[in-house]
Amino acid sequence: MTDWQTIYRSCTVVENREIARGSRWIKLHADDEHPVPYEPGHVLSLRMTQGEWQMRHAYTITWADADERTFNIIYRVIPNGRMTPKLALLEAGAKLEFSGVHHNPIRHEVNAGARHCRHRHGHGRWPALWLLPLRA
Ligand SMILES: Cc1cc2nc3c(=O)[nH]c(=O)nc-3n(C[C@H](O)[C@H](O)[C@H](O)COP(=O)(O)OP(=O)(O)OC[C@H]3O[C@@H](n4cnc5c(N)ncnc54)[C@H](O)[C@@H]3O)c2cc1C
Repeated sequence: MTDWQTIYRSCTVVENREIARGSRWIKLHADDEHPVPYEPGHVLSLRMTQGEWQMRHAYTITWADADERTFNIIYRVIPNGRMTPKLALLEAGAKLEFSGVHHNPIRHEVNAGARHCRHRHGHGRWPALWLLPLRA
C-alpha cells in the first residue's frame, strides 16, 4: 500500500440521490492530487466528521473515473444506523474523507489464483502501476 492509500483524504460530495427506496448513490470528488485509480469492487473507508462526532465505515466502489477524479458508492440507509442517516442528508459541496483501497474482494476472494502482470496506467501527473490479470 502506498502512502496516499493509508491517509484520510478530503473529498467533496458531487451528488447524493435516492436510486431505490432506502438506497442512495453518492458521487464524490477527490480534493487532492493523489491518484483516484478505483475500480468497481474496491473497498475503501469513508470517514464522516460533524463537530466532535466522527465515524468511519467500509464502502464498495460502484464506479470511478480517474480523469474526472470521482468515485461512486451505493449505500443503504439504515434507519437506526449511526452514520448512513447522516450520510443521506449530505448535499453537493459537503466534505467527507476517504482512505484506501483497503480491500479488493473480487481479486482476493473470487480470483485469488490469477496470474498478474504489471501494467502502466497513466493518470496525468500521477501514473500508477496496476496489477491486471493475465489471460492464459
Ligand atoms: C467490506 C465492506 C464493504 C461494504 N460496502 C458497503 C456498501 O458499498 N454500501 C453499503 O451501504 N454498506 C456497505 N458496507 C456496510 C457499511 O460499512 C456500514 O456497516 C453500514 O453503512 C451501516 O452504517 P451505519 O453507521 O448507518 O449503521 P450502524 O450504526 O453501524 O448499524 C446500526 C444497526 O444496523 C445494523 N446494520 C448495519 N448494516 C446493515 C445493513 N446493510 N442491513 C441491515 N442492517 C444493518 C447493524 O448490525 C446495527 O444493528 C460494507 C461493509 C463492509 C465490511
